Amino acid sequence: MKTKFERILRSLNLKSTPKRIAMLEVLDDEQVYLSPEDIWLRLKKRFRTLGLPTVYRNLEGLFEGGVISRVIHPDRKLYYYLCRNEEHHHHFICMSCRRVEDVRFCAERELQEAVRSGIRGKVLSHILQINGLCHACLKKEGTVHVS
Ligand SMILES: [Zn+2]
Ligand SMILES: [Zn+2]
Ligand SMILES: [Zn+2]
Repeated sequence: MKTKFERILRSLNLKSTPKRIAMLEVLDDEQVYLSPEDIWLRLKKRFRTLGLPTVYRNLEGLFEGGVISRVIHPDRKLYYYLCRNEEHHHHFICMSCRRVEDVRFCAERELQEAVRSGIRGKVLSHILQINGLCHACLKKEGTVHVS
């Protein structure tokens, strides 16, 4: 029987290999963004010959194929996460614990209007990533009172 990830890879015309599936499983297990090193550390016991460059290459392939997303991080390192919610939405990224949450907010209409009237252009697509601190991290810092 095919796993859900094999089906996803096939449907996007991407090569399905045990290593790719394992990388997706690691990302799916944790609702946080991970660096290629993080993923490599979690998989190198299972795949003894797995090299870090292979992890980099496969993650980039999965990103380009539209299976996983890449974080734009101020530290300029590479991080990836997996979200299988196919509706148009954006992501909140916790800068402290690396949690990734769906945000069901999109200012598409306002953007279209601002671009149309402001620069007389047309929006074809947009990228929005919200960087912040999640509720649990705020609680840890003692900066919010939980009701
Ligand atoms: Zn957090
Ligand atoms: Zn999402
Ligand atoms: Zn949007």
